[in-house]
Amino acid sequence: MFKKILIANRGEIALRIIRACKELSIPTVAIHSEVDAATLHVKHADEACLVGPGPIEGYLSIYRIIDLAKQTGADAIHPGYGFLAENAEFADACRANGLAFIGPSGSAMRTMGDKISARRKMIEAGVPVVPGLKDPITSIIEAAKSADDIGYPVMLKASAGGGGRGIRICKNREELEKFFPITQTEAMAAFGKDEIYLEKAIIDPHHIEIQILADQYGHVIHLGDRDCSIQRRHQKLIEIAPSLFIDEDIRQKMGEAALAAARAVNYETAGTVEFLVDVEKNFYFLEMNTRIQVEHTVTEEVSGIDIVKEMIRIAAGQRIVEKQEDIFLRGHAIECRINAEDPKNNFIPTPGKITACFSPGGIGVRIDGNIYKGYEIPPYYDSLISKLTVRAKTWEGAVERMSRALDEYVIRGVKTTIPFFKQIMKDPDFRSGQFNTNYIASHLDQLNAASEEDQIDKVVAIAAAIAAYSRR
Ligand code: ADP
Ligand code: ADP
Ligand code: MG
Repeated sequence: MFKKILIANRGEIALRIIRACKELSIPTVAIHSEVDAATLHVKHADEACLVGPGPIEGYLSIYRIIDLAKQTGADAIHPGYGFLAENAEFADACRANGLAFIGPSGSAMRTMGDKISARRKMIEAGVPVVPGLKDPITSIIEAAKSADDIGYPVMLKASAGGGGRGIRICKNREELEKFFPITQTEAMAAFGKDEIYLEKAIIDPHHIEIQILADQYGHVIHLGDRDCSIQRRHQKLIEIAPSLFIDEDIRQKMGEAALAAARAVNYETAGTVEFLVDVEKNFYFLEMNTRIQVEHTVTEEVSGIDIVKEMIRIAAGQRIVEKQEDIFLRGHAIECRINAEDPKNNFIPTPGKITACFSPGGIGVRIDGNIYKGYEIPPYYDSLISKLTVRAKTWEGAVERMSRALDEYVIRGVKTTIPFFKQIMKDPDFRSGQFNTNYIASHLDQLNAASEEDQIDKVVAIAAAIAAYSRR
C-alpha cells in the first residue's frame, strides 16, 4: 500500500479523498492556491503545500505538483475530477517519475477523452453509439450535408468537450449555420482545440450512466446505474440511483455494454460510461469519464462500496475481491448538488462569505461539502459547495428524506440551489419519476415561482409571529 498520497485537487472532492486515505491509514498531502489556504481540505490533510501562481494555475501545473509529491515523500497522486484528472500527459508524467497515478492509463484516457476517438472505439467494440459522424467537420457546408443525412435536430459537439461546455442543439439549417462558428470558438476557448463533430440530437432523453470498477488484472465489474437527467445547461444538478426509467432487462444490457466499453480500452480504476436512453428505451453510448465522478456518492450509498478506496487499492496493485454476482444494490439514493448559484437569475454563480451554516443529519443523510461559517467562497472555481446525498428503502422514502434534509440545511450569506431543490422535491412530475433532460428547462418558471411564494409565506409567518409576540 502507498506510504503517502498527494491530492492534486481542491474542494469537496479533495476532502472526500482525504477521508478515504484516513480510513486506509495513509497520510495525505494537500496542495492549495493562496485563496484556498483556509479551506477544509487543507485543514484535514496531514501536510499542505502552497502551489501558485494565482488561484488556478498551480492546480494545473504538472511538474510543480510532481515536484511537491517527491519533496513530501508521497508515492501516489489522486487527481479527483476536473483540473488534471483527465490529462493523459499528467498521468504519464507521474508514472515516468516513479509515482503511482490513481487513475487509468494515459492511453485509455487519450482514447476516451476525445469524443470522436471514443465513438470509433465503441463502434469497433459493438457498443451502440448516438447516430452521427466518425470524423470531425471543418466547414458549414460539410456540416449541413451531414445534418441532412442524419436528420434534424442535431447536436454540434466539441470533441474535447466536458463539463457541459461546447454542446449546441440545432433544430434546422439556419441554427446550424449560426451555431457552427460559435461552437468552434467555445471549444477553442474552453479546451484549446476547435475540433467539432455532429451527432443526432436524441429527443427527450434520459442520461443514464454505469459505474465501472476495473483492476490491473483485467477484472471489470459495474456497480449499477445512475439517472442524471436533471440538468441545467447540460450539467447535472440532481442524480439518483437506480434509474426509475429502465427495467431489469435494459439495465443488464447497459451494464454489459459498459463492461465492453471498459474492456475495449483495457480500463483500470473507477470510471463511468454515460449513455442517452430515448423514449423507446434504446440506449446509446455518449462518452466515458475516466475518473471519479461528482455523483459517485449515490452509487456508494446503494452498493455499500467505497469507490475512492477501491481506486486507491487498485492503483496499489490489489485485486477487486467482488465478482459481478456479489454486487447488490439496495434502496434508492438521491444527490442534490448544492451550488452557490441563483436559480432565479439563470444560475449565475454567487460567490461570497457564508455567514451561517447548519448541516442536516439523521438517518440516511450524507454531506460531502467544504463550507463552514465564515468561509469565503472564491469566485474562481466551480460553484459546487456541498453535495447532499440521502438514501432510503423506497423512492418515495428517499424523496421525503431529501425534502426533510433540505429543510434542515441552513446556508446564509450567499444564494444557493437549496430553495430550488425543495420545490423539485414537491413537484408531482419529479415525485412520480417523470423527468428527462428537459426537466429543468420546462419546469424552471414554475419552480422559481413556487420558491418565491414559499419565501413570501415565510416572511408573512415571521411578521405574524412578531406581531403576536408584541401584542402579548
Ligand atoms: P461529472 O461528470 O462528474 O458529473 P461534471 O461534468 O459536473 O462532472 O464536471 C466536474 C468538474 O470537472 C467540473 O468542475 C467541470 O467543469 C470539470 N470538467 C469536466 N470535464 C472536463 C474537461 N474535459 N475539461 C476540463 N474540466 C472538466
Ligand atoms: P460532457 O462531456 O460535457 O459531459 P456529454 O456528451 O456527456 O458532454 O453531454 C452532456 C449532456 O448534454 C448530456 O447529458 C445530455 O443532456 C446532453 N446531450 C449530449 N449529447 C446529446 C445528444 N446527442 N442528444 C441529446 N442530448 C445530448
Ligand atoms: Mg458527460
